[in-house]
Amino acid sequence: MSTLAPSLRRPRWRTLLILAALLAPLLWPIEHLATRYYRERVAEQSSQTLELYVANLRGTLRRYEALPHILGDLPALRAALRAPEDADSVNAANQLLDRVRRQSGADVIYLMNPAGLTLAASNWSHYDAFVGRNFAFRPYFREALAGRLGQFFGLGTTSGKRGYYFAAAVRDGHETLGALVVKVDLDHTETLLGSTPEQLLVSDVNGVVILTSRPDWRFRATRPLGEAERAEIAANLPYPTQEPQPLRLSEQAWLRQSHRLDETGWTVNILAPRSLVERPVQSVLAIAAATLLALLLLAAVLLQRRRHLLERLALDAHARRELEQRVAERTEDLVALTERLKQEVLEREQAQQELVRAQDELVQAGKLSALGTMSASISHELNQPLAAIRSYADNAGVLLDHGRIDDARGNLKLISELTARMASIISHLKAFARRDRKAPETVALQPALDDALALLANQRRALQVELLRDLPDATLWVQAGETRLRQVLGNLLSNAFDAMAEKAPPRRLWISAQTLADGRISLSLHDNGPGFCAEALAHAREPFFTTKTTARGLGLGLAICDSLIRALGGELLLANHPDGGALVTLNLLPAGTGLGTPSPEDRS
Ligand code: ADP
Repeated sequence: MSTLAPSLRRPRWRTLLILAALLAPLLWPIEHLATRYYRERVAEQSSQTLELYVANLRGTLRRYEALPHILGDLPALRAALRAPEDADSVNAANQLLDRVRRQSGADVIYLMNPAGLTLAASNWSHYDAFVGRNFAFRPYFREALAGRLGQFFGLGTTSGKRGYYFAAAVRDGHETLGALVVKVDLDHTETLLGSTPEQLLVSDVNGVVILTSRPDWRFRATRPLGEAERAEIAANLPYPTQEPQPLRLSEQAWLRQSHRLDETGWTVNILAPRSLVERPVQSVLAIAAATLLALLLLAAVLLQRRRHLLERLALDAHARRELEQRVAERTEDLVALTERLKQEVLEREQAQQELVRAQDELVQAGKLSALGTMSASISHELNQPLAAIRSYADNAGVLLDHGRIDDARGNLKLISELTARMASIISHLKAFARRDRKAPETVALQPALDDALALLANQRRALQVELLRDLPDATLWVQAGETRLRQVLGNLLSNAFDAMAEKAPPRRLWISAQTLADGRISLSLHDNGPGFCAEALAHAREPFFTTKTTARGLGLGLAICDSLIRALGGELLLANHPDGGALVTLNLLPAGTGLGTPSPEDRS
């Protein structure tokens, strides 16, 4: 894992942030497009509202535009102008104007003389009737007298209501009789059709708001007023105030659609709040953002899956590489091992050959040595009786010369006995020398032991070895060959004497025999010598292993004993006794009842 590329371990949030940074600019064009779309829609809607309103307003004004001219021609009104002191004609004029007002829907219709004094009015009967009042200061009056259609927006001085005034002169030929004024109520034009979030704003030539759906905007100046305009406002009093406060509309907050009415100099504005655009744009943005977020998450999931896949691939590759490397290493090791083994086999073969050669040489040397030892032993054993025989024979001659025949016979008897002993020794040696290849036969253990001890009697005497026998009275019959058994026992006894020779007296040899639970016969020889050294315990049965000097030991004794005993189906055990000294045990197969045929060796 630790060897994986660092890019595969990069934290997920960083990848997400990078993706977000890449995708976020996409929101900007979306916002731009959505804003343009909704702005166009709002503008279209506002423009329709505007057109409708303008047509409405224009219709309202046009309806009354021609009325002063037409009414000016009515005889009843002319009569009142000619005879203002005639109460009847004035009354008739009042009645007429009231009737026309009701039929036309105008607010007030009134008749003025050339001095601006109101002679008759449709509201003659009201408490705030215009009759008797002078409106010469109004510009529409001046316009009318000048022969033009007087038009004026203003707040009624008595009613305080906003109105639009149309005025025309009443003429008779070139003579101006007076002026007729129709005041139109504009209050009801201040609302837009339906409940719409759009706002209405109508400003006059001075830029002052005269009609609006927002009462707080009313009579506020949409632009700074000039000196001339201020003066005119002060003279004509069209608004409730002479100093209209500025109206500061944030262009950011409103979308404006405007239309200028040339006939009045007014500007009609429909103001749509920008929220009409912003709200749907925000919805679109929210949807777009959610979509992008979903895309981001999808991308993140795909990225994560890709990363996992890459990690797994990297892991697999890593594991494969490691495996290949390990296999390569093992192969190298195996090749080296094979080479080493070949070398070792070669060396072993050479060593084996050398060993075989050395063994051959040693066997040869052993044979010669054994021959030498045996010759010495034979000559020693035979020379003594021979010397005695010569001495008895020489002595017998002297006795015969002196006629001592009995004494000479005694010497000859001794000579005979000595030759018998010599024959016995030779027969023992013969028994040792003979190779016995026959199948095991029944042999009595105790006599074989006695024979072996007899052969070594001299050595035993010289060493003053005390024998401690613990043997059953009944003869123990074992499966063996007479000669082989004696050879083995002689070897073991000789080894014990050799071992005890290394120490001072007392020297003791315990010889015991017993029948084991499995029926085998067990003979133990326990000496009080130094015992087996550790190396001897491990290797004593190997041929040519000896701790003795080359003159005394061949290292073949125990090896031959072991192989002979094993050939007889028995076993030879070497150990050290807990009380000290060596303990050599010979386990042999029993020979049944003991009535079997005695060995031919015994017979010989
Ligand atoms: P050799 O007697 O020629 O050395 P053996 O095969 O008979 O050869 O004995 C091998 C060795 O075993 C001896 O050299 C000796 O070290 C050891 N050994 C045998 N018998 C005894 C014993 N009774 N006590 C101590 N050591 C023994």
